[in-house]
Amino acid sequence: MFVVDPEDEEPIQLLRGGREGAKVQVIAEFKRAEDLNDTTAAVPESRHAFKLEASQIEATIAKGLDFSATATVRLTARRDGVRWTRFRLLSELAVDSVSAPGAGSLTFSRFKQDPDLWVRLNSSPQKGETLAVRIVYHGDLIGYTSVTERMLRGAPTRIRNRLPSVPDRWFYVKTPTTWFPRYGELAADVDLTFHAPKRYRLASIGRLVESRVDGDVATTHWVSLRPADQVCFSLGDFDEFKITDPRIPPVTVHTNSDAHRQIDNLFLALRDQLGVNNAFVSRFLSQRAPEQDVGADVANSLAFFTRVYGPPLFDQYYAAEIPFGYGEAFPGLIYLSVWTFQAVGDSGYEEIFRSHEMAHQWWGIGVEPAGYRDAWLSEGFAEFSGLWYMQLILRDNEKFFKHLKHWRSEIRARRNDVPPIGIGWRAEQLNGRDYTLMTYHKGAWVLHMLRNLMLNLRTMDEDAFIAMMQDFYRQYRGRRASTRDFQRVVEQHIGTDMTWFFDEWVQGTAIPRYTLAWHADPAQNGHYTLRLRVRQEDVPAEFMMPVPLKIGFADTMMHALVRFRVTGPTTELTLDLPAEPKVLELNPLESVLAEVKTESWH
Ligand SMILES: [Zn+2]
Repeated sequence: MFVVDPEDEEPIQLLRGGREGAKVQVIAEFKRAEDLNDTTAAVPESRHAFKLEASQIEATIAKGLDFSATATVRLTARRDGVRWTRFRLLSELAVDSVSAPGAGSLTFSRFKQDPDLWVRLNSSPQKGETLAVRIVYHGDLIGYTSVTERMLRGAPTRIRNRLPSVPDRWFYVKTPTTWFPRYGELAADVDLTFHAPKRYRLASIGRLVESRVDGDVATTHWVSLRPADQVCFSLGDFDEFKITDPRIPPVTVHTNSDAHRQIDNLFLALRDQLGVNNAFVSRFLSQRAPEQDVGADVANSLAFFTRVYGPPLFDQYYAAEIPFGYGEAFPGLIYLSVWTFQAVGDSGYEEIFRSHEMAHQWWGIGVEPAGYRDAWLSEGFAEFSGLWYMQLILRDNEKFFKHLKHWRSEIRARRNDVPPIGIGWRAEQLNGRDYTLMTYHKGAWVLHMLRNLMLNLRTMDEDAFIAMMQDFYRQYRGRRASTRDFQRVVEQHIGTDMTWFFDEWVQGTAIPRYTLAWHADPAQNGHYTLRLRVRQEDVPAEFMMPVPLKIGFADTMMHALVRFRVTGPTTELTLDLPAEPKVLELNPLESVLAEVKTESWH
């Protein structure tokens, strides 16, 4: 089936029926030929009937956590004659009324368990006309959960009886997107006012411009400062820790200390009552001051990314704990998993995780991916940034390379089945794990490879890479960027066409295997002639990469690093060396996402 949808960013789709029932698979999706000339990504909202101007939300969270809100959405018509407008709102939220402020109520329509909310305007607006829609709604937005109860779910009663029975208590926001009426999930100015019980801590996006307490109710007022599409808030029975550091804007950490005491009790009981002392228990058994550990990474990564990328967008940051195993970033606000507050592991994973979420303030929020194909500019860049931060803060190259190698073996194992990075979000529809592997981990590898290509092998100076990343951030700060836009900045800094690199690593899935062989013969004046050969496999013949080679000499204090092009089935190289080479190492800095082997010259 072909779909031609002029409102879609890529209006032509080829679909086919999937194996399971009504499932539909996207085979190909692309732009109209005349739009392909446009190398800068088109602003996706330009195809919507309305431009989303601003959303204003006034929300109340009652004592019992009942949620109610009034949202006023301002839209400008892009074309004449559109009467029905579609919003999306979490289906559990009931709409009480829809009106045009000052012009009476509006007809609306909703189907059960469907987030679509259709609103019929009183008249068909003319192109350029601005109108407002006010939606009053309420419902079950704030969820309640217990981490320890979830952990023990399914455990036999005789085991549960030996464990502490006081569960931890958490609230969470059920959806980070459709908790207010969304028009196309587009970016717009957002103004948020929350009334919530004062005993709870609430954090939201942008800037806190007003905060007051009336009786038991705390009112906070937040403005997005710039158009935002990732808009949410956090709420909980939190303790608050403020970090002030002259290098960075103020950071506030919200953590559920009571919950951690309950989780500690459970882990202690698992260990002492049931004798469970496995890696899981030891990894998560109590931190002395988790908020300080987490807060240090939040603050240090904020300072590090400011130094290497440029100034962040906001003048305050919140990091709030959530009772789940993931993290998420919003403008000026990050969610961090309960487990990173609980963990004591030293693998470097926690440092990567925490700083990954902070890195989104640069990649994903500071610079937003232009379209779904550019997702790696957010997740791959954030993952690379997390890895880079971990390398620096732990001063541990071994852990840095361990993570890279682990990702490499997974990427190589899946190379014949995965879609390329360049297919972006669509990969997630096919396989969530492959999406993560490609977008996060291979994406991080791609940046790591650029870092290495730009590394001065003589001085090990990486100023060129840092200057390039700063330039990309400066050019697109507060805007959207595509992979093409990034490629252009890379080319400006490297000074040559880099299409081959992006074709191989972003649009392709092949991962090379190099097999090195060499031998050295004495030459004149004590010199040696080194001959080496690299066989390249598992990639198309024209696949090319500059690969560093480390040459070690008899004097172990001495070595040389050279970079040479590997391409085609066999690459041969002859070098004149001033001394006898003893050890050769191809790709010593993991500069290329490749598997490396050696074989004898014969
Ligand atoms: Zn992320």
